[in-house]
Amino acid sequence: MNKFILSLDQGTTSSRALLIDQNGKISGIVQKELTQIYPDNGWVEHNPNEILNSQIEVIDQVISENNIEISQIAAIGITNQRETAVVWDKDTGIPIYNAIVWQDIRTTDICEDLKNKNLDKEISNKTGLLIGPYFSATKISWILNNVKSAKERAKSGKLLFGTIDSWLIWNLTDKQTHATDFSNASRTMLYNINKLEWDSDILNELDIPKSMLPKVLNSSANFGNFNYKGHKIPIYGVLGDQQASLFGQKCFDETSTKNTYGTGCFMLMNTEEKIIKSKNGLLSTIAWGINGKICYALEGSIFIAGAGIQWLRDEMGIINSSEESEEHALKSSDKSNLFVVPAFNGLGAPHWDMYATGLIIGITRDTNKSDIIKATLDSIAYQTKDVMLSMEKDSQSKIKLLKVDGGASNNNYLMQFQSDILGIKIERPHNTEITALGAAYIAGLLCSFWDINHLKNLKYPNTNFNPKFNSDKINKLYQNWNNAVKRSMNWI
Ligand code: ADP
Repeated sequence: MNKFILSLDQGTTSSRALLIDQNGKISGIVQKELTQIYPDNGWVEHNPNEILNSQIEVIDQVISENNIEISQIAAIGITNQRETAVVWDKDTGIPIYNAIVWQDIRTTDICEDLKNKNLDKEISNKTGLLIGPYFSATKISWILNNVKSAKERAKSGKLLFGTIDSWLIWNLTDKQTHATDFSNASRTMLYNINKLEWDSDILNELDIPKSMLPKVLNSSANFGNFNYKGHKIPIYGVLGDQQASLFGQKCFDETSTKNTYGTGCFMLMNTEEKIIKSKNGLLSTIAWGINGKICYALEGSIFIAGAGIQWLRDEMGIINSSEESEEHALKSSDKSNLFVVPAFNGLGAPHWDMYATGLIIGITRDTNKSDIIKATLDSIAYQTKDVMLSMEKDSQSKIKLLKVDGGASNNNYLMQFQSDILGIKIERPHNTEITALGAAYIAGLLCSFWDINHLKNLKYPNTNFNPKFNSDKINKLYQNWNNAVKRSMNWI
């Protein structure tokens, strides 16, 4: 009988369960949407019990729909939305507050306070991150300070913290395992990625008791058993979503790089044992830990990628679906001077200008909506080039191939333009569930479902895009983009 890895992909908008066979083929997939809770401006929460229940529902469904025996599941791999924080009661298992989602910026003031104490350098040296509300640390601090008697309960060892992987593992193992993996720990802003330990100074500064924190294990490790209908299914792998996609793309070698085109873009480069200190606003993070060996990565993010296409659809009303953007781009005439800079909430790496706003420049009497749509797609490719150049500078290496995934990577016009403007080949796998695949791979390594060489040799069909612009054309367009970006800066 065929064996499978059960991959659990707990994302920001949905929970998914996938069955993956030994050829890396997806044999079943079930998804359930998750309620987004917006209690206030800039606040985003999830109900932790809904996360757990939806994850169990999709497990039930994927097993029953595909008529497999539970004994055919060799192991579970988990990948999850990163940074989102849950605090729960150690005895009852009841969360004391909703999960505060990574996108939530309610703790901006706490972050400002840390910066005013000149802790930027120390925190970035220790954690690889730039102080920000996205990471778990200040979210935990907010919960402890705002939920009645939470601080005292935490200090007397009654509360536990976890990112979503820990929350799922603790529940699936009947409270036996309170653990996370290196990749998720490195997104909390509490973990020293050099010494591989929770950092006492940052914990003291934020008054977070160490007793709340999970044990940090290898990404490929025994996280305990999920007791499921009389069977024990071992949980053998855990990776944060972007690291899972790096692994799923098989970026196993130094300098191999992937970019995920979703609402925003996340580009990660494998830097092996090196922690690269960025001079260009990128982050250092842990990609994974296998057999005690840590692999690091450099990470750059773009806030507005697919979100720009959603803006065209929802606010501008000039397309009915994201997919429609492609046909408009193809019918737009070539206007090399029209640019959309989607700096809706300022500019990230490498410009870092909170005072920049969105801008459309180069409009003439014959500009039409297709041209604006094309320029918005182009902006995703230009921002990707901005981040890639920073990454090349920081790593002092040249990226020769970019592996891509995520919703907006399905746009062929965008991928061709991306290849043209970068001047390198783009490789897009036909299988779009790369993140779930990464979690399955890391789990399968532990139970000899695969070994690294087997994974390297798994061949998938890809679509390749090869560059067609000469360097003069690239330079001219990119210079125009940079000029447009300059004009969007320092506006408010
Ligand atoms: P996330 O994981 O961030 O929710 P997904 O990987 O599901 O993102 O991708 C969804 C995003 O991709 C949306 O912002 C959507 O507008 C964009 N998108 C999806 N398909 C296309 C397409 N064919 N062309 C351009 N953008 C697209």
